Amino acid sequence: MSTESPTSRQSLSGGDHPLDWLDVREKERVEAGLRRRLRPRAATAGGLDLAGNDYLGLCRDDRVLEATVRAVRTWGGGSTGSRLVTGSTTLHAELETALAEHMGAEAALVFSSGYLANLGVITGLVGKGGLVVSDAINHASIVDACRLSRARVAITGHRDVEAVARVLAERAEERALVVVDAVFSVDGDIAPLAELAAVTRRYGAVLLVDEAHGLGVVGPGGRGAVHAAGLAGADDVVLTATLSKALGSQGGAVLGPARVIEHLVDAARPFIFDTGLAPACAAAALEALRILRAQPRLADAVRANARALSAGAREAGLRVTEPEGAVASVLIGDAQLAFDTAARCAAAGVLVGCFRPPSVPDGISRLRLAARADLTAADIARAVTALEAATSM
Ligand code: PMP
Repeated sequence: MSTESPTSRQSLSGGDHPLDWLDVREKERVEAGLRRRLRPRAATAGGLDLAGNDYLGLCRDDRVLEATVRAVRTWGGGSTGSRLVTGSTTLHAELETALAEHMGAEAALVFSSGYLANLGVITGLVGKGGLVVSDAINHASIVDACRLSRARVAITGHRDVEAVARVLAERAEERALVVVDAVFSVDGDIAPLAELAAVTRRYGAVLLVDEAHGLGVVGPGGRGAVHAAGLAGADDVVLTATLSKALGSQGGAVLGPARVIEHLVDAARPFIFDTGLAPACAAAALEALRILRAQPRLADAVRANARALSAGAREAGLRVTEPEGAVASVLIGDAQLAFDTAARCAAAGVLVGCFRPPSVPDGISRLRLAARADLTAADIARAVTALEAATSM
């Protein structure tokens, strides 16, 4: 059955209501094992959390909480307006300076989410008559940004630098942007950034790297994959980041040459027409970043824990990726089986992510394991035992 919405006036289910087709779609999703349900968690929910993205365990750190509460008392519950009207506080400015310094960029601009940072920078840097070259498994926010940009979009195979070079060499468009996740969000592998930067430079394009899973995790002190590849501060490389993973808060940022940031302030619609990030979130991220700067080993710890988790799962006979950041994934295949396996892990007190279509292509559904810096050897052993039991049923 087509997945398009019905366009004729007759409803697919034969009913009379114009939304009856939603029931047909739901039935299809249920049958395919793709129905999603919100499961609100309680603040006190126990268990071992390998599903969240609080990689450094800073979301509930006392210092982060204190800074957040101070910001709420100082600034209130929200930012009160667009960054260009009333929504820019001194906290936003401090955070931008700190992020840029940490990642080795000339300047930074905070958005209210990483998703919007990707929409803002991609639509801001390329448009109609331009070209975006995007890795096949880039994050959904990049995919959506490419569509929104109205540029021609060329999807290249995962990590295929030769394909990127070919598309750039054969293009008719003058302006081109190559975009890639630094650390791919489900499998946890790192993009070949040095090679991509060389190719984009050779063909007069700009490289945009999404450091959502690199910041706080990859490279010395968690300065990110771009820094680790020796590309920090390059005048033709732009980064995005999220504040919602290693920094335990919410929000996003674009980092790069000052002229890019200045352009986005004037031109990026998801920046201009969105209410500024809540000051409390800016304060939480800023404090988390200060902690990371004072304890750079946190980044090493999360990577070591991810490797230990993956090695344990592999020894238990599971098909698991080799993590280069905080994340590894266990290949399951069938969507319903992946869902049931994640549910069995949860019943055993170990929360893991479950990735099914449309988050991954059909037939390669998987469990996503996100390590944290504060995991103990006992936590890792517990997780491996739960995974082994859940997959052998
Ligand atoms: N990029 C990547 C690679 C991500 O994994 C995510 C978060 N899932 C985002 C961007 C979006 O970030 P945010 O959640 O802050 O909107």
